[in-house]
Amino acid sequence: MSGEILVVLEHDRGETSDTSFQAFGLARALLAAGVGSSITAVVIGAEADALAGGLGAYGAARSISVHHGELTDYAPEAWGDVVAQLIAARAPAAVVATGTDRGNEVLAHASAIVDLPFAANVTDVALADGLSLTRVRWGGSLLEQARLQAPVFVLSGSAHTFSGEVSGDAAVVVEVLEPTLGASAARTRVVDRVTLAAGITLTTAAVVVSGGRGVGSADGFAPLAELAELLGGAVGCSRVVTNNGWRPHSDQVGQTGKRIAPELYIACGISGAIQHWVGMMASKHVLAINTDNEANMVGKAEYAVIGDLHKILPAVSDEIRRRRANA
Ligand SMILES: Cc1cc2nc3c(=O)[nH]c(=O)nc-3n(C[C@H](O)[C@H](O)[C@H](O)COP(=O)(O)OP(=O)(O)OC[C@H]3O[C@@H](n4cnc5c(N)ncnc54)[C@H](O)[C@@H]3O)c2cc1C
Repeated sequence: MSGEILVVLEHDRGETSDTSFQAFGLARALLAAGVGSSITAVVIGAEADALAGGLGAYGAARSISVHHGELTDYAPEAWGDVVAQLIAARAPAAVVATGTDRGNEVLAHASAIVDLPFAANVTDVALADGLSLTRVRWGGSLLEQARLQAPVFVLSGSAHTFSGEVSGDAAVVVEVLEPTLGASAARTRVVDRVTLAAGITLTTAAVVVSGGRGVGSADGFAPLAELAELLGGAVGCSRVVTNNGWRPHSDQVGQTGKRIAPELYIACGISGAIQHWVGMMASKHVLAINTDNEANMVGKAEYAVIGDLHKILPAVSDEIRRRRANA
């Protein structure tokens, strides 16, 4: 199946994140499955021009730099309108983005405009009587096997599933597109930005020290915060904790909280319910600290310490300080 795969690159006024480039990983998986014959990046907004020329490294043969006065900042309807116009004009084999809030929002608008089905949060693809795909459903609590039949496959890749790594150093041809946008394209626009937290945040931290019911109280989080600070990390928690008012909802990890992928997730007094697990299952390494050696989190973690977190955490922090003092 030949044709272009359009990759909508997510960025914020030209700034990309680790997940931005994972859409190219999905595009490469489609190529490997026999869908499409080349990758074309779609970079929306003049502030992202600098990105367009470097996308050959991610597998793009071509970049389309889209300019318009309504596109200086993120605007979901306007971005969706642009993607819909590109689908209508170029009849690509597929259109993909990373399955973030923004990626899914833009593709949802685009596919509604051109009346195409949209499969969000895909984890695997294969060509078979249409496209056979696996995707994350119900907030991550189940994986669905589905078959997509459409003239253009519109897909987002589940975040942290496909590689966002550089895959080559090919040159890229950059085209500039100045679309005509309808008035409705500007219906939703960014009017202000509020910085919630300076420095390390839960979603960017390499180490997350997370607490559950076993922590016992708001004050009980002090040793978790202490260890997080020593490791340059952030504090997370389970829903029981936010329900009890011990920590704010912005710290909650899971299906109805944040999805994170730190290098190390330290789960303290967390049983490992599926709704929590889906929020941190992309962690590179998991250490469980729990009194119950049969807890789900202990069974799934790479490392576990069985015991009372209130004794273990201060001992770990003391040991880190002792070693640093002697280093
Ligand atoms: C629709 C829906 C959405 C949900 N979304 C989320 C979500 O986003 N995030 C989330 O976390 N949950 C979510 N939940 C709730 C989830 O099902 C669990 O109830 C919750 O994750 C359990 O939290 P916990 O592990 O802190 O508590 P518990 O399950 O009660 O586990 C406490 C653990 O602490 C251990 N423990 C106790 N004392 C100590 C100690 N002194 N030292 C060490 N270990 C100790 C125990 O052995 C136990 O394993 C959701 C539920 C539903 C139905």
